[in-house]
Amino acid sequence: RPLVVCDEATYRYRDGTLALDRVSLAIETGEFVVLAGASGSGKSTLCRLLNGLIPHLHGGDLTGRVLIAGQDVRSTPPYALSRSVGLALQNPEAQSLATTVARDLALGPACHGLDRATIAARVREVAALLRIEPLLDRQPVTLSGGELQRVAIAGVLALHPQVLALDEPFAFLDAAGAMRLRETLRMLHERGVAIIVAEHRLADVADLATRLIVLHEGRIVADGAPRTVLAGD
Ligand code: ADP
Ligand code: ADP
Repeated sequence: RPLVVCDEATYRYRDGTLALDRVSLAIETGEFVVLAGASGSGKSTLCRLLNGLIPHLHGGDLTGRVLIAGQDVRSTPPYALSRSVGLALQNPEAQSLATTVARDLALGPACHGLDRATIAARVREVAALLRIEPLLDRQPVTLSGGELQRVAIAGVLALHPQVLALDEPFAFLDAAGAMRLRETLRMLHERGVAIIVAEHRLADVADLATRLIVLHEGRIVADGAPRTVLAGD
């Protein structure tokens, strides 16, 4: 069974803006999907949908069917979906509520009712994975954009999601940070996490992708192996 299924998904924001227009796709374990397209084509919206943020946090009107790990997003709150899909917001600053990075990383696992030993193990695991051990005692507000980005991704991974959907994760990063994030995504993909990245600068991720989906005015206009899609442009 595919991890993510969209069947004729059409979405309008509360103000009536049509952001996704009959989007159908299925994403399987092992895929590394890049969502491409011009500004305003619907990349962020599709990410929010695949993250379970739409319709619950954005309201608006969703028609069609969207299943994440077999659960219908309309009847499943984001909190319940977050076991399957990494909930990552575009602006990492908005995500940090805790007084230290370590507490921030523990929030998700704690909300899911994991026991203290498991939570501590998860925090150590994701801190090592993203090489943020030196940041664990820092206050999130004192971190740089790139550091926050890594903390945000670590917080998502602490829930051991099967799918990680990231909206322009390279936006806040310098060249070194971008390289580190590329390596992180490559490693997660190798470990079996399905990766979905919305990115208008294809250079950062095109060679990692197994699949490229191009959006135009809320519609999928190309979908396939990156080399095939890019050759068709
Ligand atoms: P992209 O990520 O490709 O730039 P978006 O998904 O952000 O595209 O936007 C798709 C369409 O939805 C655009 O017309 C955009 O103006 C609109 N849109 C995005 N976010 C909102 C919002 N919160 N409320 C209303 N319209 C929005
Ligand atoms: P909601 O309808 O989900 O409450 P908001 O209107 O509060 O959405 O906007 C959520 C975010 O999307 C804000 O950061 C806002 O600036 C942005 N946004 C709102 N309208 C648009 C739009 N037409 N295009 C792109 N982004 C938008």
